[in-house]
Amino acid sequence: MTQTQQYFEVTHFIAGTATLGAGTHSEPVINPATGEAIVDVRYGTAADVDAAVAAALSAFATWRHTTPKERADILLRCATVIDEHTEELARLESTDTGKPLPAARDDVAAAVDTFQFMAGAIRAQQSLAAGGYVADHTSTILREPVGVVAAITPWNYPLLIAAQKIGPILAAGNTCVMKPSEHTPLTTVRLTELLATHLPAGVLNVVNGDGAVVGAALAAHPDVALVSVTGSVRSGQAVAQAAAASLKRLHLELGGKAPVLVFADADLDAVADGVAMAGYSNAGQDCGAACRVLVDESVADELLDKLVRRVEALAVGDPADGDHIEMGPLITEAQYHRVLGFLDRAAEQGIRAATGGNKLERPGFFVAPTVLVDVPDDAECVKEEIFGPVVTVQTFADEAAMIAAANGTDYGLSASIWTEDARRAAELPRHLDFGTVWVNNHLVMPAETPWGGFKSSGYGRDMSIYALDDYSRTKHVMVNHGRQTP
Ligand code: NAD
Repeated sequence: MTQTQQYFEVTHFIAGTATLGAGTHSEPVINPATGEAIVDVRYGTAADVDAAVAAALSAFATWRHTTPKERADILLRCATVIDEHTEELARLESTDTGKPLPAARDDVAAAVDTFQFMAGAIRAQQSLAAGGYVADHTSTILREPVGVVAAITPWNYPLLIAAQKIGPILAAGNTCVMKPSEHTPLTTVRLTELLATHLPAGVLNVVNGDGAVVGAALAAHPDVALVSVTGSVRSGQAVAQAAAASLKRLHLELGGKAPVLVFADADLDAVADGVAMAGYSNAGQDCGAACRVLVDESVADELLDKLVRRVEALAVGDPADGDHIEMGPLITEAQYHRVLGFLDRAAEQGIRAATGGNKLERPGFFVAPTVLVDVPDDAECVKEEIFGPVVTVQTFADEAAMIAAANGTDYGLSASIWTEDARRAAELPRHLDFGTVWVNNHLVMPAETPWGGFKSSGYGRDMSIYALDDYSRTKHVMVNHGRQTP
């Protein structure tokens, strides 16, 4: 985006060039902290998807044959250029998503680290050693890129999730077409422009616009080998259906409803700090948000008291007001009304807000950080992903009931256990149906560790060496070297 384009119209990026594409329709991108439009984004069409996929396919012919070292060198240069633009990217992200500036800077730092990690990891990628499994034959296992990968991303971590897709996709030798959320395209487009100074044209392309148009066209495109989606269960299902006709591979990072299991021996100050951070950062719009506290009844009152004090101390406001802001608005007016709808229905059910439970009377899409108590096990607010600053607290008499409640959800993304008992800490994760289980922490995600879910949370792993496996394919090459005896 050039300076004039930034306040005029956000474009697609295809074959190394910013383009308005074939479509004529644009929509404003809204700053959720003010409700005001900051820029327009041009919505793409199926023709734009065709052009981007053709560019990616053409670039794949060369990129696939680069060596791991050549790709690693380029990814390290990409990491440096992102790092050099930290403040610009963080401010753009904060304005577009409403997330506090320190959190946006953390996202940029994690994006840099992702590129650095993937640059190192691809050079160390290994498969089975060559072996002779049949007389006079030698087998080798090649790891190959899959081809053109479509990456469809949500609005809660636009830059970081883009980096977590682009890093391993390109490191493994694939080329990519990105489709950022229509609500938050700014940092993805800017990132792509920055990376274009180091990447060959066509290796990374962006088409903006609607999921039902651009996302669906990518999912159905015959020249797309794999679709990687981070988003809601509904979008994952739509992509899986569209992809079925061509049987293309999928990588689905979908919703979550993370339980926080608090035992009587837990450090309750640490729990309250952990939930105040992991339940409300990004205004609770986090697939791994610590949103469902399940606490031993003997310590429930003490924990609630500590938690409410911390939640009421959160600095809520427009991130543009300064680095002291800890929680911003919800992403869109629709999401704001959706979250308020959950709160209204909970109140009608007799569920009490220990704090919050209301909107904030100010411009933008702000909901007060909320703790709901006296919550029955079958309440909508403990079953559905609210995706807002709302934490529910349920109490339990024993461990078995707590485990059953934790697993009693369609989601299987992440969970945390809080206990000082070493045996319980070691044993309990085995009983929990979640792709990540933290003990005495929540939402800590280093680049070396895999991220992804079970059940309705999808399959496939972001981050770590497992992402490189997901974005590549194995090929068995078997050579018969037996000689004819004279
Ligand atoms: P969303 O599903 O509305 O949109 C995600 C992306 O999918 C967007 O780019 C959207 O345009 C696209 N899309 C929508 N319909 C589509 C279709 N029919 N075909 C193809 N693409 C389509 O999700 P959101 O509201 O942007 O993000 C919030 C959701 O994302 C939550 O459910 C959250 O849990 C999930 N999420 C999961 C993870 C994870 O790692 N598991 C991370 C972040 C967010």
